[in-house]
Amino acid sequence: MIITIDGPASAGKGTLAANLAKKYKLSHFDTGMVYRAVGLEMFLNGLDVNDEAAAEKIAKSLTFAKMMELSKHPEFRGANGGNYASIVSAHPKVRTALLKMQQDFSKNPTFADGTPANGAVYDGRDTGTVVCPNADYKFFLTASSEIRAKRRYLEFVEKGIDIAYEKVLSDIVERDARDSGRSTAPLKPADDAVIVDTSDMTAEEVFDKACQIIGLK
Ligand code: C5P
Repeated sequence: MIITIDGPASAGKGTLAANLAKKYKLSHFDTGMVYRAVGLEMFLNGLDVNDEAAAEKIAKSLTFAKMMELSKHPEFRGANGGNYASIVSAHPKVRTALLKMQQDFSKNPTFADGTPANGAVYDGRDTGTVVCPNADYKFFLTASSEIRAKRRYLEFVEKGIDIAYEKVLSDIVERDARDSGRSTAPLKPADDAVIVDTSDMTAEEVFDKACQIIGLK
C-alpha cells in the first residue's frame, strides 16, 4: 500500500505520516529530507544553493546513507536547512536527479533497520502528483500560514532554537510562494487527493479522518 501526503510546511504532514505508518505497519519516506540533504551538503561545502549545475551534481551523488548522515547535523531541521532545501528544490535538474531514488523506494520499501515493509507513506510537496501518481490513497493537508508558523515556532522553541515568530512566519510565506510558483512539480493537490484543512483540527482528528477514508475505500 502506498499513501501520499502533500501540502505546505507545518500543515501536519509529518505527524499524520508517522501515525499512519505506525497503524498500517508501513515505512515512512519524508521526501523533504532529500532536498534538505542537498541544500545542507552544498552549504557545508561552501557552494551557492542558487547554482543549479552544482546542486545537480550533489543531487546525483546523494545516497540514502549520506542523507541519513546529514540528517544528524543541527542545521538539517533548522530554519536555514528548510530555506536551502526550498531553494535547491526549485531547480528542475535537481528534482529530476532525485526522482528515481524516491520512486525506487516504493518498489522495495524498507524500515530504517533494513527489514522489508508492506508499503510506504510518503510526505512532501509532489508525492501524489509526481513521485507516486498511482498511490492507493492521497491526502493534501493545508492550514492558514499563521497557524502553520505558530506550530513551527513552538517546535523550534521546544528544540531550544532561538528564533522570532515573525521570522518563522515570513520564512513560511516565502517558502510557500517558492514551492507553489516553481515551474517543475509545483505544490498543488493531485486531482484525486482528499484535501484536509487542519487549521482547526488536532493531530488526532486528522489521523481519525484519514483512517476513516482508508477504511472506507
Ligand atoms: O517538508 P520539508 O520542510 O522538510 O521540505 C523542505 C523543502 O523541500 C520544502 O520547502 C520544499 O521546497 C522542498 N520539497 C519539495 N518536494 C518535496 C518535499 C520537499 O520541493 N516532495
